[in-house]
Amino acid sequence: MHIRENTVVLIDYRLTNDAEELIDSSDEHGPLGYIHGHGNIIPGLEQALEGRAVGDNFKASIEPSMAYGEKNPALTQTLPSSMFGGVDQIAVGMQFHAQTDHGVEVVTVTSVEAEQVTIDGNHPLAGQTLHFEVTVREVREAQAEEIEHGHVHGEHGHHH
Ligand code: ZN
Repeated sequence: MHIRENTVVLIDYRLTNDAEELIDSSDEHGPLGYIHGHGNIIPGLEQALEGRAVGDNFKASIEPSMAYGEKNPALTQTLPSSMFGGVDQIAVGMQFHAQTDHGVEVVTVTSVEAEQVTIDGNHPLAGQTLHFEVTVREVREAQAEEIEHGHVHGEHGHHH
């Protein structure tokens, strides 16, 4: 069976950046399961998987526009550190939930100076070209209930 809309796909993957640093892999989380054609995964990876079959192994480099988008400078803000009054020690890399115009988003502290803290609301992978190595492990028809819920059920998916 080949990957097409409404198939459930299970993949093993390794994700690296331009510097060839490992960002994520199924060695840590187990295989990734998703329903093809529903925007469950980034568009570039979904496109690269179209038509593949079990056992296929391939590499795909995906531009930011087909991954997590370009970095949006408007999502970076510098705030007085007094706004973080409830937090003992602000450090680079800390993440907070912040109320924004787009709802609640995760922001990451990118710089801390005497009285000023810079936070970045971009996705950590925004602006990056992503390099995937993928092996297709399983392809099957999605059940009606999975399509309705928008996610995979079973061993590598949701348990209700
Ligand atoms: Zn469900």
